[in-house]
Amino acid sequence: MSELDDLYQEVILDHNRSPRNFGKLKEPNRTAEGYNPLCGDQITVYLKLEDGMIREISFHGSGCAISKASASMMTSSVKGKTENEALSLFEDVHQMLTEGVESGDDSQKLGKLAVLSGVCKFPARVKCATLSWHTLHAALTGKGEVASTE
Ligand code: ZN
Repeated sequence: MSELDDLYQEVILDHNRSPRNFGKLKEPNRTAEGYNPLCGDQITVYLKLEDGMIREISFHGSGCAISKASASMMTSSVKGKTENEALSLFEDVHQMLTEGVESGDDSQKLGKLAVLSGVCKFPARVKCATLSWHTLHAALTGKGEVASTE
C-alpha cells in the first residue's frame, strides 16, 4: 500500500469512529434526505442558513464507513461557508471523486478532502462518498426531494 492509501484509510477510519457534527439540529431551516440504493446508505442533512451562510450543519443516518466519513468531512468543511462557497466546493469534490485529481493544485485547494480521492479507484464506493454532498446540494438548492445517487 502507498502512503496515500494509508492516509486515506486512517482519515476515513477516524471520521467513521468519531463522526463530526453527527446528530439532529434543533432548529434547522433546511433539511434534505439522501439515499444510495447501491449500498443502502441513508443520510439526512440539517442546515441552519443565516444571511446566506451555513451557521450550523449536522447529519444523521446510517451507512457504510465511507458514507459516514464523507458526511463527517463534508459537514466540517462547509460549516461557516457561504451558500455559494459550499456549492462551489460541491462541484470540486464531485469532480475529484468522479474524475480524480490530476494536479497538485486541486488537492491543495481541497485540503483534507483530497484523501477522499482514494475512492476513485473503487467505482462502487464513489456513490458512498458523494452521497452526503448530493444531499447537501439538495438542502441548499431546496428542491425538497430525496437526493439519490442514481
Ligand atoms: Zn456505502
